Amino acid sequence: MGLLNGAERANAHTLLEHQRSAWRRQVDYVARSSKFYSSLWSGVTPPEDLDHIGRLPLVDKEDLRAAQREVPPFGSYLAASSSMVTRVHRTGGTTGEAMNLALSASDARTTATVGARSQSGSGLGPDDVVIHCLNYQLWMGGFTDHTTLEATGATVVPFGVGNPRLLIRTIQELGVTAISCTPSYPAVLAQVLAEDGIDPRSLGLRLGLFGGEAALDVPGFRERLEETWGIAARNSNYGVTDVMCNFAGQCTEQNDLHFMGLDVLYPEIIEPESGQSLMWEPGTRGELVLTHLERDCQPLVRFQTGDIVELTAIDTCVCGRTAPRFRVIGRADDMVVVRGVNVFPTSVAALINGDAELTGEYRITLAGPGPYDRLSIEVEAVHTPSNPEQARAHYDQLAERIAVTARRDLRVTAQVTVVANASLPRTEGKTRRVVRS
Ligand SMILES: [Zn+2]
Repeated sequence: MGLLNGAERANAHTLLEHQRSAWRRQVDYVARSSKFYSSLWSGVTPPEDLDHIGRLPLVDKEDLRAAQREVPPFGSYLAASSSMVTRVHRTGGTTGEAMNLALSASDARTTATVGARSQSGSGLGPDDVVIHCLNYQLWMGGFTDHTTLEATGATVVPFGVGNPRLLIRTIQELGVTAISCTPSYPAVLAQVLAEDGIDPRSLGLRLGLFGGEAALDVPGFRERLEETWGIAARNSNYGVTDVMCNFAGQCTEQNDLHFMGLDVLYPEIIEPESGQSLMWEPGTRGELVLTHLERDCQPLVRFQTGDIVELTAIDTCVCGRTAPRFRVIGRADDMVVVRGVNVFPTSVAALINGDAELTGEYRITLAGPGPYDRLSIEVEAVHTPSNPEQARAHYDQLAERIAVTARRDLRVTAQVTVVANASLPRTEGKTRRVVRS
């Protein structure tokens, strides 16, 4: 089957025909070659018709973990022979059990092509020199994302993480026009530039390509970033590690994510508690479930991603892409329930970024297993008066303001602690917004 050229601009009929025949081939392959699925589906005849995919059981990360524990290193869902495996990534090894991800040459090519659609959609092109500042060690964000950047035709500089002064010099000396990193990294870099008396705008970057966090969805955060750096900031990189490293991104015309991989991935939205499928229509909000329509090594069928998304549009975008658009609301695990109200870190971020006297950094602390009757948030003041009494009065005023806004916008009681600028941890990778104690 392969990819459908220009799938992100294909008409609905062409795409559906492609998906249907890809599924017929893939479901047969999975049933024959994946021990994990042949045992999960025992007693069920897997439907040849994609419309009936909902008859098959859902699987989640825990199922994959168990499968790798039982049959290391790739799990019983490795459907290809080990000689087909050409690339391996590992994730999560620092915080617990590592997961091993295997790609065949064809899986890797597909991944690069689909990811390139996202990067191009955000405005990266052959005339750009992009410096890639994600960790190359083991995980997909480094090397595999690098291949997606290259597949756009741009010149790619493999930088990785750390050594910010070398990074700054490299940007200056190579005429770099675009930077690919996490949304929290520019804040780290800006601190170094400030120490050296360099204006971030003088580096000449025009485009910032981000992924890994939903922070860019918060309008105040994006504007601050664009203003400081003189760049267009785009989320060009949304993916799900176990499925595909990048299959959605923002175009240059609007801020929702285009689903760029519908020729090789079949999405569903479900109600997370009941697992019931929801209608594929704008306004639908639920957990994203994905099925590989083409995958050699570790094909997944009806995988629960743990991401809560909202489908926002299915008509053709101003940019000309027919690919449907969605927003990521948050992780199902990060959802905090305060007196029956669902709160996601992204909505807290929206609140904080609306206040010019706060830096935008925040941390939510949850004491014990819950239930919670209030939301405990730490935020940073931009300025702290040197007189201790004035400082206390300023912090009290800020805390009160945020608590009032939280009650109004989030409908929860917030206990707000204001701390000095730069006291909350900044990281190059994903910043943990919810801390459980
Ligand atoms: Zn668009």
